Amino acid sequence: MTVAALTQLLAGATRIVAFTGAGISTESGIPDFRSPGGIWTRYDPREFTFDRYVVSAEVRRRSWAMRRELLAGAHEPNAAHRALAELEDAGRLVAVVTQNTDGLHQAAGSREVVEIHGTSRAVTCIGEPTSGVPAGCGFRAPASWAFERIDGGDDDPRCPDCDGLVKSATVSFGQAMFPDALEAAAEHATSADVLLTIGSSLQVYPAAGLPQAARSAGASLAIVNDEPTPFDALADVVVRGRAGEVLPGAVADALGR
Ligand SMILES: [Zn+2]
Repeated sequence: MTVAALTQLLAGATRIVAFTGAGISTESGIPDFRSPGGIWTRYDPREFTFDRYVVSAEVRRRSWAMRRELLAGAHEPNAAHRALAELEDAGRLVAVVTQNTDGLHQAAGSREVVEIHGTSRAVTCIGEPTSGVPAGCGFRAPASWAFERIDGGDDDPRCPDCDGLVKSATVSFGQAMFPDALEAAAEHATSADVLLTIGSSLQVYPAAGLPQAARSAGASLAIVNDEPTPFDALADVVVRGRAGEVLPGAVADALGR
């Protein structure tokens, strides 16, 4: 299908909810787990399971090194992030629900952002958990807090309030999702008139359940992705392409700009 069909769908919508995945940020230089080369040749993300993080100081040290490298890129939002912020400014988009942890939607000006996998811009106390559920005291700080301590010689920084473990405020492999974020995501998806998914392969549950939930609640479904997804047959509009090339034009036309 064509971008024109997407434009038409967006032009008639007043409660758009965007659901974004790694594909919207690759054009900002954020490496996708699946992309060959780069950072993932040096770090295996499967090594950093929640349970291993809890029991191993060495895994925590390697995890901080990986985080530092990921954050060092000074990544900027791209035209697709900005197009979604414009839709929100125009009163047509209610929320962005994202699988990304990079903070680029907020950097582009989006205000209502639900980060279902947390954020890599912050760290949080996880206490001394005995299962996949964080048991922290509530301490939270910018990611720089951890790096300042590591640079000061403490390579396994602990919570200043309760001496518990501190971890990136992301959802690690094997870690329970944040229930508040999941609930907010489901509420947005089921009250949207259009669910616009961008750059997500829609293969990881529970996030991949959102298109189905939105469709069942009566929303139209639009999918922008550079590869097929399992939900293409269910969608009203499918545009095969990169977010930064498809969205800005479609949004500008839908807003009559
Ligand atoms: Zn604590």
